[in-house]
Amino acid sequence: MEISSLKGVGPKTKLYLNELGIYNDQDLLSYYPFRFNVIKKTDEAKMDDGSNVTISGVVENEPTLFKYGKNKDRMNFRISTKSNIYNVVVFNRGFLKSSINQGKTVTIVGKYEKYKSNIIASDIKTFDIGNRELIEPIYHSNSNISSKQIHKIIKNLFDHGIDIKTKLPNYIISKYNLMPRERAVSEIHFPRSLKTLNPAINYLKYEEFFGFLEKISLLKIKNKKLIGIKREICDDKVSKFIKSLPFELTSDQNKAIAEISADMKTSKVMNRLLQGDVSSGKTVVAFAALYINYLSDFQGALMAPTDVLARQHYKNIKELFKGYDINISLLTGKMSEKEKNKIKSEINSGETSIIIGTHALFSKDVEYKNLGLVITDEQHRFGVRQRGEFRKKGNNADVLYMTATPIPRTLALTIYGDMDISSIKVLPRNRKPVKTFFKKSSEIKTVLEKVLSELKIGNQVYVVVPLIEETEKSDMKNVLDIASKFEKAYKGKFKTGILHGRMSSEDKESIMDQFYKNDIKILISTTVVEVGLDNPNATVMVVFDSDRFGLSTLHQLRGRVGRGNKESYFFMVAKDYSERLQILTKTTDGFLISEHDFKERGSGDLFGVRQSGELNFKIANIKSDFKLLKKVDEDVKEYLKTKQNRI
Ligand code: ADP
Ligand code: MG
Repeated sequence: MEISSLKGVGPKTKLYLNELGIYNDQDLLSYYPFRFNVIKKTDEAKMDDGSNVTISGVVENEPTLFKYGKNKDRMNFRISTKSNIYNVVVFNRGFLKSSINQGKTVTIVGKYEKYKSNIIASDIKTFDIGNRELIEPIYHSNSNISSKQIHKIIKNLFDHGIDIKTKLPNYIISKYNLMPRERAVSEIHFPRSLKTLNPAINYLKYEEFFGFLEKISLLKIKNKKLIGIKREICDDKVSKFIKSLPFELTSDQNKAIAEISADMKTSKVMNRLLQGDVSSGKTVVAFAALYINYLSDFQGALMAPTDVLARQHYKNIKELFKGYDINISLLTGKMSEKEKNKIKSEINSGETSIIIGTHALFSKDVEYKNLGLVITDEQHRFGVRQRGEFRKKGNNADVLYMTATPIPRTLALTIYGDMDISSIKVLPRNRKPVKTFFKKSSEIKTVLEKVLSELKIGNQVYVVVPLIEETEKSDMKNVLDIASKFEKAYKGKFKTGILHGRMSSEDKESIMDQFYKNDIKILISTTVVEVGLDNPNATVMVVFDSDRFGLSTLHQLRGRVGRGNKESYFFMVAKDYSERLQILTKTTDGFLISEHDFKERGSGDLFGVRQSGELNFKIANIKSDFKLLKKVDEDVKEYLKTKQNRI
C-alpha cells in the first residue's frame, strides 16, 4: 500500500515521509523508534532544584497565553497537588489551551525551579497518568515532520488495518518462545510497559538478523554455482606494472593482488572483500586488478560512492597509466547528458576499457560490451541487496568490494559470509603516524593555537562535531556555533565551510569540492567527513565531544589527515579525561582498534543512541547484539540446510 492512501498523509507529508525512506505501509511499519521516553510520576518530596520532574495536578486557573514573534507563544497557569502549588510555563503549546481547563487534572513534564515553584514544561499530557509508566516512542524525524506526527501516522496505519505477515519459521518462534510478530510490531510502536516492550524488541532484532543472514547465505549458495570468467593471466606484464610503480608495494598489498589474480584465473566468480585501513593503499590494488582484467581483454568498472571520489580515482588512474595505451573514461551523474551519452556509447562499443564513476555506472541505459570486473569503493555504502546486482552488468563479472572499515575476523565471517576476504594490515613504510592528542575542553586554547599555526603555513583543517540525535535543528546549531567560534578566534581570516545533515547532497559535494581545491581552509561538519575524501593538504583534525564517538569512527576520522607527507595532528576534545579514548593515542592499527571497539559493545540497551552503523540495521546492533547475531547465523544455516533437504 502506498502511504498516500493513508489518513493524514497529504502530498506534502508524503514527500516528508519519502525523505525518511518511507514509501509504503511496510516501510512505515518498520520505521522503528530509536529510543523511548519513560514518563513516570516524580516523588514530590524528593524534587531538587533544576531537576527534571513529572507531576500530575489540578489546573487552578484558566491559562494565559502570550503570542510573540512569528508563531511563537508562551502559556502560564497553575496546578495544585496535595502538597503544593506550581506555576507552569510552557512555550509554543498554545494549541493546548482549550484542553487545559480549570479543575482538570493534567500531567506536566519539565524542569523544576524550586525557589519560584516553577515548572518549565517540555511536555504536557492533558490527563492524569496515575501510577502508570507511560512509554513514548521517539522516532528519527526532521524539521519537516516531527516524531509525534510520525507516531500519529503509524497509529492511522494500525487503525486502517494492516497485514502483518509472520517472517520467521514457526519452529524458531517456539524454540525461543518469541513474541508473535503482530504483537511485537504493535508493541514497538505502542508500548504498554517495559515488560512487554523488551520481548518485542527481542523478536524484531531476531527477525532482522534472520532476514539479513538468510539473504547472505542464499547469495553464497548462488555464487558458488555461478560460472564466471576464466582468464589467462600474463604474470610478466603484471610484475612489470608493479615494478613500475613509484613505490614498493607492502607485503599485504602484494598478497591481496595475488589473491585477486588467483580468483580471476579460475572459472569461479570472484566475490572478494578488500579491507584495509584508510590510506593503507587499497586503490593501487584495485588498479592492479583493473589492469589484469584489461590484459585479458575485458572491460573493468570502478565505482565510488560520490562524484568527488570518482574524480579523484579517475585522476589517479590516468596518471598511473599515462605511458600505457589504455582508454580510461569517467562517468558520473553530474556530467552533461551530451558527455554521458558519448561515454555510454564508448562503453557499449568497447572503445573504452576502464570506466571510473559513481553508481551512474550501473544505470539501466549503460550497456557494457564485455564487463569482466566490477570494483566498488567503500562497499558498505551499498546494501546487501546490491551485492550480486553488479555482476549482472557483465556476464558473471568478478566483483571486488573495498572497505576502509576493518572489522574483527569473527564479525567479518558472519556479515560478509558470502565473500572471500583480503586484508591489508600493514601501512606503507613511508607513512608518518598522525600525532594524536587528547585535550580537555578547558585546554581548547592550545588546540586553537596549533590549528592557527598550521593554517598560517597554508595547511587545511577539519573540525568535527557530533551529530545530535534529538533534532536536526540542534545538529545545525551545533555546527553553526562552532563555526562562529572559529571565525571569531581567527577573525575571519580563514574561510570556513560547513557540512551538516540538513544540506542536500549537491551542496555537500560543492563544499567538499571547495575544500579539496583549498578555497575553504576550515571544514566544519557534523556528518562524519566523507569516507575516502583525500585531501593531503589537510593536516589537522579537531573532534569536539569526542567521547560521543565510537573508537572505530574516531579512527576513521583520523584517517582523513596524514594523507600527504606532512606531519599531521589529530585532537580529540572532550569535557573530561576519557580513558577509553587513550587507545587511539597509543595505536594506529585499525584492526586492533576495531577489536577494542567491538568489546565496548556500547550499552546495548534500547535507551541508547542509535548505532552509527555502516550496516543499516533498523533495530539490531551488530556490536551490542553480537551474541544474538552468532546464534541467528547458526539458526539460518540449520534452517537452510533442512529446507534444502526437503526440496
Ligand atoms: P586507501 O586504502 O585509503 O584507499 P590509498 O590507496 O588512497 O588508500 O593510498 C593512500 C596513499 O598511499 C596514496 O597516495 C597512495 O599512492 C600511497 N601508497 C599506496 N601504497 C603505497 C606503498 N606501498 N608505499 C608508499 N605509498 C603508497
Ligand atoms: Mg580508497
